[in-house]
Amino acid sequence: MGETPTVQFLGAAGTVTGSRHLVRAGGRAVLLDCGLFQGPKPLRRRNWDPFPFDPRSLDAVVLSHAHLDHSGALPLLAKAGYRGPVFCTSGTADLLGPLLRDAAHLQEEEAAHANRHGYSKHRPALPLFTAADAEAVFPLLRRQHYGEPFPVAPGFAATLRRAGHILGSASVELRIAAPDPVTLAFSGDLGRRGHPILRAADPVPEADVVLIESTYGDRTHPPDPAGEVARLVREAVARGGAVLVPAFAVGRTQELIWMLRKLEDAGAIPSVPVYIDSPMGIDVTDIFCRHPEDHTLDMAELMDAGRCPLCCRQYHLTRTPAESKALNDRTGPLVIVAGSGMVTGGRILHHLRRRLSDPRTTVLLVGYQAAGTLGRTLQDGAEAVTVLGDWVPVWAKVETVHGLSGHADRYDLLGWLGGFSRPPRQVYVVHGEPGPAARLAEAVRDRLGWDARVPADGETVPLP
Ligand SMILES: [Zn+2]
Repeated sequence: MGETPTVQFLGAAGTVTGSRHLVRAGGRAVLLDCGLFQGPKPLRRRNWDPFPFDPRSLDAVVLSHAHLDHSGALPLLAKAGYRGPVFCTSGTADLLGPLLRDAAHLQEEEAAHANRHGYSKHRPALPLFTAADAEAVFPLLRRQHYGEPFPVAPGFAATLRRAGHILGSASVELRIAAPDPVTLAFSGDLGRRGHPILRAADPVPEADVVLIESTYGDRTHPPDPAGEVARLVREAVARGGAVLVPAFAVGRTQELIWMLRKLEDAGAIPSVPVYIDSPMGIDVTDIFCRHPEDHTLDMAELMDAGRCPLCCRQYHLTRTPAESKALNDRTGPLVIVAGSGMVTGGRILHHLRRRLSDPRTTVLLVGYQAAGTLGRTLQDGAEAVTVLGDWVPVWAKVETVHGLSGHADRYDLLGWLGGFSRPPRQVYVVHGEPGPAARLAEAVRDRLGWDARVPADGETVPLP
């Protein structure tokens, strides 16, 4: 006892995935986020490493939001024997159900596929975690309201504050009682200003130490992407091709659907069939209806099926693999939204294998594409790629709409920092590739005059 509290950066340090920050104080340990590493193989391989702490000695987990790079290692933690609480917002808890089940299902399917086709170096190829591991997580979830403090572990209290990034996303304010009171603010992933559906981020009033994301720490978003989306859809329709959108069915997708619906209503694009190709069997509208605390949509409008602003005029959910495969035979124009968002797995792979070599196809990238992912490879203009073991030439048009990103840009991030009533003693810039992270740290030092730096992967620092 009496030792200085510390935070250790166990992921999302110098990269955008594997968000895991371990806070220790008074002999207790609290994990902020428990994310999967995604992207290049050396990163993904880290998912197979044992946790660098004893999962059974961990007192609590606090989650910022449901994206897999923040939550996807929870089944691994449960598999390793963790039975403590996992605190999160109600929206996050609702999203984790379909999300973790889907991730487990994909892991099992990919292992089975690799075994059938013998392309894994491992015999037999094993899933990282199973459906049973995912199910073990759900009894641990503890739903919390925004803005209401709750006890996390002896000597730790937290408050979740709206982050405006996806449904249920939160920043975490963690107060540590001993030996001297210290407050740590963890931004989680922050949304951008003026999001058309989600409520804006709430500032954290004060903190001694801040962990802030930096995905777009070196970039500013163009103001309104609707015009660009309309142009791309009109061009795709004119070519008679498919528009493939890699996106998770309950993440970035709603804003795109909402925008397409508005464009249809305004006559800016023709009405085209939109398929949400997701095995989760979840109508996203249901989840939005259950969480008015997160969005600004008119509930009366949302619940009136005829006028649902989250559905296009020709809106289809494809749930079974057979329905998904049947899309292969459909000719355009049509829009297919399928996971995963960075093309690291999921049904989007089958659609890309089928349609990338068709010059009528448009691949529309609407979210951040981390280095080393197939999404980034396509974004960077690869002429051919390997998809599910097949070598496929890229004749499709690959387009990026940056303004649809769910992430704050450089000015949103600095704006969030501006919400503190007093300067924190130290800012750690996490969740960014080295360039954007360094640029944001530099901006925090130069513009705000605060101490800011990018922590090294695995580094432990005292608080404050
Ligand atoms: Zn996120």
